[in-house]
Amino acid sequence: MSKRYIVITVGRAIFPETSGMASCGSYNKDAIYEAEGNERIVLFPDKDLNRCPANGSVGVLAEVGQILDGADKSFIKVTYRAYGLVILKNTEIVNFRAYAETESASYYTADAEFARTLFLKAKSAYDEYLKTPGVGKRAIFSYETANENMHNIIARSGDDRHKFNFFRTLNTEERILLFINTLREMAVLADIDISVDKKVKDAMDLNQREYYVREQIKALESEIGDEEDEAEEYYNKIDALNAPDSVKEKLRKEVRKTKKSAPASPDMALLKNYLDTVLELPWGMLTTDNEDLKNAQSVLDEDHYGLDTVKERLIEALAVRKLCENGRSPIICLVGPPGIGKTSIASSIARAMNKKFVRLSFGGVRDEAEIRGHRKTYVGAMPGRIISGIKTAGSMNPVFLMDEIDKMASDYKGEPASALLEVLDPEQNSNFRDHFMEMPFDLSKVLFITTANTLDTISRPLLDRMEIIEMTGYTEHEKLEIAKRHLIAKALKQNGVQKKWIKIKDEAILAIINLYTRESGVRSLEQKINAIMRKVARKFVENPEEKLITVSKANLSAFLGEARYGEKHKSENDQIGVVTGLAWTAVGGDTLDIEVIITEGKGETILTGNLGNVMQESAKIAISYCRGVAKELGVDSGFFASHDIHIHVPEGATPKDGPSAGITIATALFSAITNKKVDRTVAMTGELTLTGNVLPIGGLKEKSLAAVRSGVKKVFIPEENKKDYKELPENIKSKLEFVFVENVKLVLKQALLNA
Ligand code: ADP
Repeated sequence: MSKRYIVITVGRAIFPETSGMASCGSYNKDAIYEAEGNERIVLFPDKDLNRCPANGSVGVLAEVGQILDGADKSFIKVTYRAYGLVILKNTEIVNFRAYAETESASYYTADAEFARTLFLKAKSAYDEYLKTPGVGKRAIFSYETANENMHNIIARSGDDRHKFNFFRTLNTEERILLFINTLREMAVLADIDISVDKKVKDAMDLNQREYYVREQIKALESEIGDEEDEAEEYYNKIDALNAPDSVKEKLRKEVRKTKKSAPASPDMALLKNYLDTVLELPWGMLTTDNEDLKNAQSVLDEDHYGLDTVKERLIEALAVRKLCENGRSPIICLVGPPGIGKTSIASSIARAMNKKFVRLSFGGVRDEAEIRGHRKTYVGAMPGRIISGIKTAGSMNPVFLMDEIDKMASDYKGEPASALLEVLDPEQNSNFRDHFMEMPFDLSKVLFITTANTLDTISRPLLDRMEIIEMTGYTEHEKLEIAKRHLIAKALKQNGVQKKWIKIKDEAILAIINLYTRESGVRSLEQKINAIMRKVARKFVENPEEKLITVSKANLSAFLGEARYGEKHKSENDQIGVVTGLAWTAVGGDTLDIEVIITEGKGETILTGNLGNVMQESAKIAISYCRGVAKELGVDSGFFASHDIHIHVPEGATPKDGPSAGITIATALFSAITNKKVDRTVAMTGELTLTGNVLPIGGLKEKSLAAVRSGVKKVFIPEENKKDYKELPENIKSKLEFVFVENVKLVLKQALLNA
């Protein structure tokens, strides 16, 4: 009969070739004491200390050294020395004590080669396992070297549960396979770990998210509340609108759209912008017109000096307008140089008729969309200038001044002028469609007035639609009167200066007109007067005791600095080949010197001074004319072949064009050819034909004014301009001697001085 051993269940996988410490249930104490010193016992590692070993279980034959109390009374610790692996047989329980016979056993390898392969596999499986996300903290297997003790190494690895399994599996190959499986299991666990972690985290996030979502919902709810209030507000506004039903219906549709859009979306912003803009328009708002023409006349007179014909035309236009209520009253276009009162007379009309006034500049408009607006789906879309202007005016029947329509350009984005045509056409403008608005707006009650500096750049169809009222420059006398009656009073008010503080003498005003400004209108004059007022204001602020300040010609420079222009420059000496011409430009009349120099050469002609095509042709005509009549004037016929002619018009940077310099060029040429000086006090204008005839010119008043401004005494003008001459103000006629010419020969005779 084999020897029976007491079997003690210990809570650790212990190993047969080593000694160590294990814990067991404290009820084993007696049995252990019994065995102590004389007998070996069998330690049976199992994670359940109360389990009885079954037959075939694996244990370790050991000698117990010391018994130590555990942390609590329920278990004790024993030190042991192992004497080899055993398999239990014939196990039995007697008096709560387990006994078993033993059969010695050991770990073994059945196929070393296979075991080795498996082990390598295990090793790489382990390396692989270490790379699995989340295994970091589970990497509890520890082995660095793999050699003869591989079974131990593996057996000692893993957590207790694995260790018990490894301990019990005697076949090495099996144990390695178990190890590999364990790794798999562990990897899956790690993965589970991750997903659990994630789930935990998600749960947390969810909580937070929920919080935010709830907050958001709250915010949205309040916003939706606002939205609904807002929608309600829109509906109310629409109901109250004095607009056609179709318009109201369209607006309501847009409001319904706002309900479908997210509150903070760009769509919503667009919709609101649209609704706000359209609702702000003065639908159905009409101011009551004062159609009393006498009143209109007196307002115009009150605000403006002179301009009699302009006022007359305006009053006539108003009369026509009154008679054909919804008829085709033409659009007034005020044309003339800057600073001449176009804007201010238009605003006077508004005042006279008790209309609102709005002024928009069309200078530089090149895109049709600026007039008609951008489709509302564009980000930042806005209505065009017309609708914006109406919005500013706040009524549907204002005076709408379109400034500088001659400065409109066209480019690839369409022709703004044609859009303007539609606006100005009484047959179409009651249904004006702005791209942004997407609904018709009635412009037929608007009194449109346009302004331009020149008609040259205005398209023909647009011109046809308008009634042109030309405004010419002011004479020195008119300017003086305007200053005395209007500009000074305005400047006093603008600068807070009291009338009793300052007296500006007429001579001072005239000096400003002639020496400090050179313009057709009165804009610079107004600026200079303002400059004086500012100086006066300062003086009185600095010294309230200041006495009346008198501005005279003599002390003018103390206010305005040195004069910009000299006294009438025509005191210069008479010269050969230099003649004063008279030009008419968009900014008024001007004098224009033409210079000719003749040098020995090969009959070439040089033209300089930025001359336009028409002006170049004038020069060629003048040369041909001169050649034609050279003999008559005593010039050798070979002269032209052996000389070069250079014609220059100074201020090369300014482009010049037009036919009216014809006779001037011819005169300069003759002066150069014949070496005769030209009278510097004469000026001339007229188109020249090849036969020497002089054709009429435009802008006589402007040109004459320019001549007076620059000190010219005598002007040659075409015979055919006599009718224009008759309309000239007396004070121009009295300052200038006009000579009417049919043929340039007369000019040559009178202007060229005999040496
Ligand atoms: P435009 O529109 O022709 O360029 P503005 O109307 O701006 O010129 O006129 C410039 C200034 O000159 C304004 O202050 C205007 O009141 C004043 N002005 C022009 N002509 C007259 C006039 N005939 N009577 C009174 N003030 C005038």
